[in-house]
Amino acid sequence: MKVSNLAPEHVRAIAPYQGGKPISELAREMGLNEADIVKLASNENPLGMSPKAQMAVEDAIGDIARYPDGNSFALRDAVSQKFGVATNQIVFGNGSNDILELSARAFLSAGDEAIFSQHAFAVYPLVTQAVGATGVIVPAIAFGHDLDGFLAAITDKTRLIFVANPNNPTGTLIAKDVLYAFLKQVPTHVLVVLDEAYDEYLSAQHKSEAIHWLKAFDNLIISRTFSKAYGLAGLRVGFGLMHADVADILNRVRQPFNVNSIAQAAAVASLADEDFVQKSYAANQAGMMQLTQGLAKLGLDFIPSYANFISVKVPNASKVNQQLLQKGVIVRPIANYEMPDYLRVSIGLFSENARFLLALEEILK
Ligand SMILES: *Cc1c(COP(=O)(O)O)cnc(C)c1O
Repeated sequence: MKVSNLAPEHVRAIAPYQGGKPISELAREMGLNEADIVKLASNENPLGMSPKAQMAVEDAIGDIARYPDGNSFALRDAVSQKFGVATNQIVFGNGSNDILELSARAFLSAGDEAIFSQHAFAVYPLVTQAVGATGVIVPAIAFGHDLDGFLAAITDKTRLIFVANPNNPTGTLIAKDVLYAFLKQVPTHVLVVLDEAYDEYLSAQHKSEAIHWLKAFDNLIISRTFSKAYGLAGLRVGFGLMHADVADILNRVRQPFNVNSIAQAAAVASLADEDFVQKSYAANQAGMMQLTQGLAKLGLDFIPSYANFISVKVPNASKVNQQLLQKGVIVRPIANYEMPDYLRVSIGLFSENARFLLALEEILK
């Protein structure tokens, strides 16, 4: 017997997560110079990280021989102050991916159901399947979440609902009043994980108010990350905000040292650098304008996006993706999201966006 068959069926059935192709990998494959490659494939911050975070990282290196603070005391204090939640309402994760997984491990058993949307973030089915629970996929409406469809899909077995707002890879946003009305209708035996990885990229008018809703909904888990606008994707740090009783449960399945000491220091410094987040927001607005205007000029359809990426419909997406790679431009094909005609492009620096648009123009003409 193959040794892999010893793993349970629900584990063997998991389709591995496909990330954006690393720059070093494309350089090896195509014999290109790393410096000549543009990566717009993983929704990373093109401005890098806050200079304050960089200094904090350099400072923290001296202490690497020590285990990190398993309670993330300083970071907890900073998040508590910034977001106005009690310290016992915060759970830290190795990226917010960890918060999604902790939610599944804490609240889903084999046979339970978790609901999420078609075209929603790939991690929801992964963490659901890893614990032997059943994913219930609600068909999207115009690429967005159909929350009435979510309500209709709830059964006695439902324990978790994942809502991505904005969603990746579609960039769609659920209006606040619609989301609030939905939460009011979710029965109390179901937890809602509200994934707000891109909240910092929303305009003031659209920014989430869900933190205020925690008082009304004991079953709400809000997930946030330092990987996107804060520019710390490589360090892996995110957090969840929730009722203290829910936080207590998540902490029981959390690895004691899941957030490393350098990540904690960088996250504290990042939270204190509002200017950098504001600069990142402004750069993203400008880059989004540049890309949407460029794509429109090429006569291409795209899904209007509220995040730091945009999904564009191109004829022969898989072939175009290969041709972009040959030109040293990495974007993300999203056939695995049931969107085989689309490519997802992260908003980069002005010069990176221009490289992508020029390459695309050359390929399509
Ligand atoms: C990028 C992303 C995350 C964040 O992942 P991290 O583990 O925090 O790096 C979470 N949710 C969505 C929808 C994302 O696109």
